[in-house]
Amino acid sequence: MVSKPSEKEEEHFARLEFERKKKLEEERHKNLAEEEKKRLKELHYIKCPKCGMELIEIDYKGVKVDKCSECEGVWLDAGELEAISKFEKTSLDKLFSVFKK
Ligand SMILES: [Zn+2]
Repeated sequence: MVSKPSEKEEEHFARLEFERKKKLEEERHKNLAEEEKKRLKELHYIKCPKCGMELIEIDYKGVKVDKCSECEGVWLDAGELEAISKFEKTSLDKLFSVFKK
């Protein structure tokens, strides 16, 4: 059985159509991932990773320390633990005293 040229053409166009739509869909997924990232950031930004409540940010000697208003967890950004580890003992005591009730 030999298929007619027109059928082959239809198959060709169907495949092109499929590939075009697939590309569009892949592009949409990429955008979706970006949007999801943005949405998650907005949702979690300056929120406690443990309990989800607001963090209170304190700037001490150039280090931003975030303390949870609910569970009292203390969170640091990248590199800040290293920065704090270089503090003098007296500076550390002062930092801790900021959070004392
Ligand atoms: Zn918390």
